[in-house]
Amino acid sequence: MQKSDKKVTEKIFKSDEEWKDILTPEQYRVLREKGTERPGTGLYDQFFVKGKYYCAGCGLELFESGSKFDAGCGWPSFSVPSDKTAIGENLDMSYGMVRTEVVCSRCDGHLGHVFNDGPPPTGLRYCINSASLVFKSDDEIEQERLREKKD
Ligand SMILES: [Zn+2]
Repeated sequence: MQKSDKKVTEKIFKSDEEWKDILTPEQYRVLREKGTERPGTGLYDQFFVKGKYYCAGCGLELFESGSKFDAGCGWPSFSVPSDKTAIGENLDMSYGMVRTEVVCSRCDGHLGHVFNDGPPPTGLRYCINSASLVFKSDDEIEQERLREKKD
């Protein structure tokens, strides 16, 4: 039996063609080609409804609205992931900068970057593209849970 504190995220692999089938062009550009949406243009930049954010590629839960804050940078910002196993980190030396790229640990989709200038207690700012995320409100999550129960 596996210990519950050692949660292993099972990876999802798809070909570029398969990803193109299920993602919008903007989602594909950001998630699969490490694109960045223009600041201030994303769906969830100025968006503060209570709920959860899921990977737009594979549906893994990534962030909760409680950790979202307005960093004024033009992208959705979170101080902590829902679960640290949900997020993978890679060193990113592109564009002459040293940054830490964050990816979905299940499908390796590009989410954004994490910086050390966030609020306490973590001091972290997960700067995430809206295109990488799908939001569900607490109400929607509850409705889904009830529907599943009925089936
Ligand atoms: Zn994913």
